[in-house]
Amino acid sequence: MSDDWQPRTRAVHAGTRRSQYAEMSEALFLTQGFVYVSAEAAEARFRASEPDEFIYARYGNPTVAMFEDRIASLEGAEDAFATASGMAAVHGALMSCLRAGDRVVAARALFGSCLYILEEVLPRFGVTVELIDGTDLAAWERAVMPGTRAVFFESVSNPCLELVDIASVSRIAHAVGALVVVDNVFATPVFSRALAQGADVVIYSTTKHVDGQGRCLGGVVLGRREFVRGTVEPFMKHTGGAMSPFNAWVMLKGLETLELRVRAQAASALAVAQALEGHPKLARVLFPGLPGHPQHALAMAQMGAGGTVLAVELAGGQAAAFRFLNALRIFRITNNLGDAKSLVTHPATTTHQRLPEAQKAVLGITCGLVRLSIGLEDPGDLITDLRAALDTA
Ligand SMILES: *Cc1c(COP(=O)(O)O)cnc(C)c1O
Repeated sequence: MSDDWQPRTRAVHAGTRRSQYAEMSEALFLTQGFVYVSAEAAEARFRASEPDEFIYARYGNPTVAMFEDRIASLEGAEDAFATASGMAAVHGALMSCLRAGDRVVAARALFGSCLYILEEVLPRFGVTVELIDGTDLAAWERAVMPGTRAVFFESVSNPCLELVDIASVSRIAHAVGALVVVDNVFATPVFSRALAQGADVVIYSTTKHVDGQGRCLGGVVLGRREFVRGTVEPFMKHTGGAMSPFNAWVMLKGLETLELRVRAQAASALAVAQALEGHPKLARVLFPGLPGHPQHALAMAQMGAGGTVLAVELAGGQAAAFRFLNALRIFRITNNLGDAKSLVTHPATTTHQRLPEAQKAVLGITCGLVRLSIGLEDPGDLITDLRAALDTA
């Protein structure tokens, strides 16, 4: 592996380990454990294992290590720890470094399960959490006071596609020594420059674009080696959130085509957003790639693209939204995103159902809001499908 390889070359080759058989495609080491040549060798490996010496799949596995090294190379991170799901990554990154008495500041526009960790889990262990409007830099300035241990936000929020300015928030956080932890799912490793922009830790749910074909759950925590191996790994390996070797193998092969898929999906998402903008049945079209989006300039500076997901608000509320979902023929009703198949979600009644109405209102999750994840189909077919369904809404 060469340091000057471009991302598409790394996506195919970085992290490859070959066994004594010199297999061409990455091997799936579907084994929970490893055998030692002697009792002394077992003792030595438990004392200190070399990078290519493994003990138990909850601690590490050659297929999982290939995936970790490949995604770390793509992200420009020193190291990565792969987890059983995106939520295992969010939980592991935060719980491994926080303790009672710590203070965390987070953007309030978050995925439902992330909110659960911040609002329900961390306070139970004596961590104080303040939720703020992540788009408001003055609010970050006010909330991130000396003694703040970490800040947490989705760089592009689910489902309303609000952006948080990674570089500015990192500057504010680093001024008081706080760790910057970014859930970067919507940016994808293709459009992410989060570490270069100041983030300390980047998290992905690899269930989304990295698999990209809706097969496996997975997640990853990326950052400095000392944090990944010294803080996250001990916590994850003893609490059981490791990625399975099979899922790592699927994700590893997913990385090979990630850039081609995500760029095609993002181009289609822009075409769909342009086609729907101004439609009489829609009160709003939310897509950071549209020049009319309030954070378009930040999206271009931070990601260079609008991403693969957009949200639209039907003027006719929930009844119109449900008629629209039920009339779609290509888009499938589900709650995944980043898939090769185009997917549609009604957040207020599914992914964000748990939230009190007042909180939904603050977050802009209205009854008419619909999230669209754009897949790999022909964009003309997608636009035809959406227009026909809007006609019946
Ligand atoms: C899906 C998602 C997660 C959780 O990932 P899982 O793999 O489902 O556990 C976390 N954050 C964001 C922004 C997501 O979209």
